[in-house]
Amino acid sequence: MSRNQLDAIAKVETFIIDIPRAVPYLGPLREGEFINEKGYLVRKGNRSIYPSSDLTVLVKITGESGMVGWGETYGIAAPEAVKAIIDNLLAPVMLGRDPSDAAVIHEDLYDLMRVRGFFGGYYVDALAGVDIACWDLFGRLANLSVAQLLGGRRHETLPAYVSGLPKATLAERCQLAVEWVGKGFRAIKFAAAVSDDGIVREMEALREAVGPNIDLMVDLHWKFEASEAIRLIRRLEPFNLYFAEAPCQPEDLEGQARVARGIGVPLALGEEWRTTYEYRPRFEARAMGIIQPEIGHTGITEFSRIGVMAHAFHVNVIPHASISIGIFTAASLQATAALQRVPYHEYQHSIFDRNLAFTDGDMACGAGHYTIPTGPGLGVVPNEAVFEHIRKGTA
Ligand code: MG
Repeated sequence: MSRNQLDAIAKVETFIIDIPRAVPYLGPLREGEFINEKGYLVRKGNRSIYPSSDLTVLVKITGESGMVGWGETYGIAAPEAVKAIIDNLLAPVMLGRDPSDAAVIHEDLYDLMRVRGFFGGYYVDALAGVDIACWDLFGRLANLSVAQLLGGRRHETLPAYVSGLPKATLAERCQLAVEWVGKGFRAIKFAAAVSDDGIVREMEALREAVGPNIDLMVDLHWKFEASEAIRLIRRLEPFNLYFAEAPCQPEDLEGQARVARGIGVPLALGEEWRTTYEYRPRFEARAMGIIQPEIGHTGITEFSRIGVMAHAFHVNVIPHASISIGIFTAASLQATAALQRVPYHEYQHSIFDRNLAFTDGDMACGAGHYTIPTGPGLGVVPNEAVFEHIRKGTA
């Protein structure tokens, strides 16, 4: 180790975590939907595949000092792919590196497969997991939170919006929305993919149920052609829609920009993009008023850089929250705490609340707000309970 080095990476390990859930994500199975032999189901409403359990991938980096950093990445489908990339390709290259070079390591790992066209998808998800673990280890060695390492903790709490109302009927979803308002939450998003009575009807019913002072958002799940989307969103505007999310297909940059110009509410996009290179042309095209980076895809280094770009383009950041045992959720809260333009952070209540049992730390979400964990690094660590859920035969 050189004189200025804080520590040296001695070991990189990965764990696939598989946690059963009673009701699949987005609610009970609809007609024609079934769980296949590998445990996945395809939602008819948006033609996307989901696991029937909660799948995620944990990354553990141990320094020569014995200090440990934890990361987590997106493992929603075929998490074995991400694990193989980390174990076989990234880990050996990282040995001996100084975790305080987290951003430099991220750039070097990105370059390994860049000219072969691996600058997205599973490869960048794998980078995200090790990047989060490097930043956590850096913070623990420096005894500073990741938010401090990123420039400072601007926020100690963040407003949380309730994401999804996983009930079978509109009446039940309205009732659930009212319950969340009763618990002190001021913003709720519904998923159009399961609006069986129609999207405008769902918006109207929810507005009636929660009253005028709650922010209501809709996730349109990439289902619409641009003109259709504009017509639909304009019909939702009289019910005081806060934002419309992902109306057009992910690749349709022109459609996104056309919708952004054609509606009277902010367009929210970005949960599926991983790098500044994917965000940049959308910022330049003024394709959205809100970005929704998912740290399970981006890692901390790219998330922060995307956040800086949002600042430069006067765009708000409302981070996405996916299936996490809490490690990348903590990373998202830390990285978001260092940003300025953050009206909300997504709150996946059905996942976050249950998974708090898998981490130790003071991360919380209640009465409409997240509490940013206060310890060093991410401020949370996985506890013994999570290792009871390592997928068999993968450790
Ligand atoms: Mg979404």
